[in-house]
Amino acid sequence: MQLPRFCQTLLVLLCAGLVGCENSSPSDQVFQGKTMGTVWRVTASGLTPEQARELPHLIQQRLDADDQELSTWKKDSWLSRFNQNPSLDPQPVSDNVAAIITSSLYVGRMTEGAMDITVGPLVNLWGFGPNAIPTHTPSASQITAAKTRVGLQHLTLNETVQGNTLRKDIPDLYVDLSTVGEGFAADHLARLMEQQGVRNYLVSVGGALISRGQHLQGQPWRVAVQKPTDKMNQAQVVVDLQGHGISTSGDYRNYYELEGKRISHIIDPNSGQPIDHHLVSATVIATTALEADAWDTGLMVLGTEKAKALAKRLHLAVYLITKEGDHFVGWASPTFKTFMVNDQSH
Ligand code: FAD
Repeated sequence: MQLPRFCQTLLVLLCAGLVGCENSSPSDQVFQGKTMGTVWRVTASGLTPEQARELPHLIQQRLDADDQELSTWKKDSWLSRFNQNPSLDPQPVSDNVAAIITSSLYVGRMTEGAMDITVGPLVNLWGFGPNAIPTHTPSASQITAAKTRVGLQHLTLNETVQGNTLRKDIPDLYVDLSTVGEGFAADHLARLMEQQGVRNYLVSVGGALISRGQHLQGQPWRVAVQKPTDKMNQAQVVVDLQGHGISTSGDYRNYYELEGKRISHIIDPNSGQPIDHHLVSATVIATTALEADAWDTGLMVLGTEKAKALAKRLHLAVYLITKEGDHFVGWASPTFKTFMVNDQSH
């Protein structure tokens, strides 16, 4: 029996914790479509009629190419073929794959493995990958078995002028880029806008956004982090992205209930269990949407205190929402405060 996963609506996947385009003008042009099990959206101003005609097709083409390369949901994607291939020999990889793996491994190391793109066997065991949601809580032995296939030390990227290669040292390693794919794709859309001569845009793929310039009213793009409730579009804090990427990871929208317990889609690779603590969302602003998307998951796994310490130490722009009793408490890192429209942390 497939148990319901809560709040998998279009709007949630579109926003995934962020209220995008909050102050966009009605005259800005908005395009949207579907990709990677979620929604993409591009808001742009000052387009020529030709740009407006061409863009939706070019965007979809770009996203389809990423999906075909990086999906674990498509059995014939490049990544699925890498996962299915038991060879321990180095496999040639595109610059695209090398870029997303490099960022993921970096954040993985900096979070001491809290963000781990080899966590796939555990994600699938708990029913958040292509596998169905389990009807019973996975047993300790199932978790232990899945954990033997998890660990960043099993994956080596080698970048040389002759070409890039990726190598695994166990045959059944399963790389899962779900947590970073949206940010990576959003950066690609931003690059596409630049190539097409579009200078004012806000693009999003799922919960990862990146912007440049201004919207038609001559104002910077502003983005609001949603309040962690099931009600949509209530702003907790508003930021001016200043050309940066932003991403939120939270467990208040993507979860299901199993045997009376709430099961988060974010898995602690160390315990093999879905996270179960008071940090309900982590929002990160970074130079690219990919970086923001990688950090937010790692910080969610770490929990409030470790996430705060890391954000301060590395000068990350981080906004955390923690549940304390019946209240939600926001915390902005010093770097995040420089993006806030005014000091709304409380
Ligand atoms: P985030 O918080 O950004 O990431 C959480 C996700 O990352 C989890 O759901 C899990 O997959 C993984 N994860 C959990 N714990 C960790 C950890 N400790 N370290 C690293 N990763 C972790 N979804 C579909 O339903 N259908 C599809 O066809 C589909 N195709 C996709 C194709 C691609 C190329 C990609 C990148 C994703 C695809 N997805 C698909 C997944 C979907 O788009 C989202 O990525 C997913 O729902 C989680 O995104 P999020 O922003 O909600 O969560």
